[in-house]
Amino acid sequence: MIISNTDYRRLLLTLSVFLPAVYTTSAQELEPLRPLSKVPYQLNALQDSFLEWPDTTNAYASIDGQRMQTYIVEQQDISRRYRDTVNSQYWGRIIGASSDWESAEWLEQKYRDLQLQDISIQPFDLTPQWFPQSWSVSVIAVGREYSVATAHPFYRSTGTDTNGIELELIYVGLGTEADFAGRDVAGKAVLISDMLGLPEEGALLRASEKGAAAIFNARMMPGNMRYQAYPVATDVPTFTLGNEDGIALREFIESGLAPELKIKLDIDIVSGLQTAMVWGSLPGQTDETIYVMAHRDGFFDAAGDNASGVASMIELAEYYVGIPAEERRRTLIFIGLDGHHNSGPGFGVGRMWLAANHESLFDKTALLINAEHPSTVQTIVRPRYLNRDEEIVWSNSYTAFHWYAGGSTRPELNQIALNAFREFGISTYLEPNPRAPAGDLSRVFQYVPGLTTTDYFHYFHSELETVETVPWTGLQNTTKAYARIIDEVNKLDLDVLKRPPGTGLDQ
Ligand SMILES: [Zn+2]
Repeated sequence: MIISNTDYRRLLLTLSVFLPAVYTTSAQELEPLRPLSKVPYQLNALQDSFLEWPDTTNAYASIDGQRMQTYIVEQQDISRRYRDTVNSQYWGRIIGASSDWESAEWLEQKYRDLQLQDISIQPFDLTPQWFPQSWSVSVIAVGREYSVATAHPFYRSTGTDTNGIELELIYVGLGTEADFAGRDVAGKAVLISDMLGLPEEGALLRASEKGAAAIFNARMMPGNMRYQAYPVATDVPTFTLGNEDGIALREFIESGLAPELKIKLDIDIVSGLQTAMVWGSLPGQTDETIYVMAHRDGFFDAAGDNASGVASMIELAEYYVGIPAEERRRTLIFIGLDGHHNSGPGFGVGRMWLAANHESLFDKTALLINAEHPSTVQTIVRPRYLNRDEEIVWSNSYTAFHWYAGGSTRPELNQIALNAFREFGISTYLEPNPRAPAGDLSRVFQYVPGLTTTDYFHYFHSELETVETVPWTGLQNTTKAYARIIDEVNKLDLDVLKRPPGTGLDQ
């Protein structure tokens, strides 16, 4: 179905009306079990802290990390407007929500300001989308009731009925088969700990199969933050918990108390929504193309994932607008992708459409850069010999990246990328990913010479993933590296970058 931009806009505006803010439950007024963590620094106080890369050649001097941070703040504002006017619990630039439309219009306006060409918003129908309307979790122990403020439903979790449920809480450690041995969890709320670095134990599904009536997963990340987890196929209400809340609940049990949890989770599955890709282009001297894409969606402020990528894409467009047309060998095409944090097959209708249309889109494409999480603060968890195990400790640098530059059958592109990373101080994992890392390039990398640098850092998908966690130095250096890679690729002919027919996916 083709819908005009006006229809698309009207549809989303209507939807924002019938996704009202309905949560004011008594649990919200309860004393929190443990306080929520806050972002430990203010943006202004951070700007002089980060290591700057000495730019001896003055290449790409107009690419400006602090300006890109203002684009991140503008996208945060879209998320926060949605939080303050539509849903204060499940918020962000959520696919299909009014904030999705606002993000699309915002990006379209950025393209217009830069006088890009062929600007359009391409709408897509969505399958019914999971929208939690409100929830509350509280714990009753020794006659007192506290709000478990960090409890946050896994994406696509099932809900409760309107009365909610009241359950005894039981702790099963890491949720391995050994942890469950001899325990009867049927009809109870199950608390499971989880830790980065451990193998995936299938603990949540195990709890579900053994008859748990609700599942809580404390992430063992220092602090107490809300976190939006990817879907898990349990059939009962399933939540993540901040670490401090998880420990507090466990301590009730250790004290011999029998804590009861009160759980309410109201889920709507909303039909008739749409999302969109936002297109703009900058003509070059030939009809050969270079694409830059970035996904627009994200949970909470989603500063790193992926307002930062969108900001980097806009900055690249701005840089190339300033280059005389006769010096631009290939046409640049910019795509603000819908994203992939949504319900439905394939997670991400835009990238599935790109994959389905790869022959016409990428026939003359020399490069596709996926700007995804291009700068994230380097943090340290539980540093040895420091008594600060309750904190995530910040460094003055940005993280090393996963990277992919066309795979092993494109040694020229790999070398161009490595040279650019080295020129601008981008630290990477020693080995490139054999395939594109998780994210939007993963659906199209087999059809096009693709490039990405990306990271999944400690604040990823959490409520603390604000602009402060996106160092301007990393934004600036990564974006300069992207520009260098575009310019070096433009010195190569298409046949150098095209894959031989029959090339395998891992090459
Ligand atoms: Zn992302």
